[in-house]
Amino acid sequence: MNRWKADSVWIERGEEDSALARRVRARVPNTPVRIVNDTGVAEPRASFDEGKRRLVIKRHRGTFMQHCPAGTTGLVCCNYLVAHFVSNCPFDCSYCFLQDYLANNAAVKAYTNHGDGLAEIDAVLRTHPSRTFRIGTGELADSLALDQLTDLSRELVPFFAERSNAVLELKTKSDCIDNLLGLDHKERTVISWSLNATAIMAAEEDRTATLDERIAAALRVQAAGYRVGFHFDPIIAHDGWEEGYRKVIEQVFPRLDARRIAWVSLGSLRMTPRLKAAIKARPQPSRVLTGELVPGPDGKERAWRGLRVKMYRRMVEWLRQIDDRMPVYMCMEAPGVWDKVFGESPSDGDIAQRLVASPPVASLQAVAR
Ligand code: SF4
Repeated sequence: MNRWKADSVWIERGEEDSALARRVRARVPNTPVRIVNDTGVAEPRASFDEGKRRLVIKRHRGTFMQHCPAGTTGLVCCNYLVAHFVSNCPFDCSYCFLQDYLANNAAVKAYTNHGDGLAEIDAVLRTHPSRTFRIGTGELADSLALDQLTDLSRELVPFFAERSNAVLELKTKSDCIDNLLGLDHKERTVISWSLNATAIMAAEEDRTATLDERIAAALRVQAAGYRVGFHFDPIIAHDGWEEGYRKVIEQVFPRLDARRIAWVSLGSLRMTPRLKAAIKARPQPSRVLTGELVPGPDGKERAWRGLRVKMYRRMVEWLRQIDDRMPVYMCMEAPGVWDKVFGESPSDGDIAQRLVASPPVASLQAVAR
């Protein structure tokens, strides 16, 4: 895949000599650099995508860690924590919720003080030694899309390798895995890929790695001893969805070692009014909005419940045909949907404990049946 190149790099004054700023400047020597007092200065831009062609290097102010927003009343929660070392993403998926969440803050930002973030995580893990945490960096960013510029994985993976009560998830639509291959990860990091139906990946996920590239990358990290994960999220109802999702499952999963698949999540498209407006305003028409959507308990619109249940059941069935122990769970779904799909509605925290248990696949059979 083509590696992203920012149109310009802005560095917050005072951070010019940070390790991150020096590394980025060395790796993109021909990209114009500005040293700025205020990295939030607005510039006229035609679109969100144009805004995120700038890379901003700055200190992060505020906390790095948050609870995943899925922890909403009325939805089953997997107690996932997110850590923000980067904000926004160089790829351009038509359905990306960051078009809403970061609408006025589009530039891609990488934070110089990631050591403060690691100290924050360390404090949480030490305070709760008997709990095991799943922590991901792929909520407000793609975890690996900038890794060839930042080398962030070279700090995160060894950090988590030394912690017995946490698993790091690096979630991506890229094939930027070179940094990972030589690291001593001690199986405390899961590398995961977001997947979609063939037509959706082709038309709605601009600049991301192709399916073949994602599979090749997953095979390489499995060969390096990592467990891998997959996320079918957002599952989108569109003409030919059954064929599209089944084909991807058949292309991906038989090629991997199923015992080293940590988890597979399923989540349907979730739409806010601002995201819908952003998708309508994109230059290319999108098939994302062609299906009927209805409001859910969190105020977001989704495909109607019966259709969601049908899609989830079909996906679980196809995954089970490949390996009947595949550890599958759902993201941001109501207890009633869990009951219909899996015959149970786990309590908050129950999913997390089963996903991080060892051995993970055997312990998860109950989650996905
Ligand atoms: S890869 Fe993820 S974060 Fe990046 S544009 Fe696509 S949906 Fe958004």
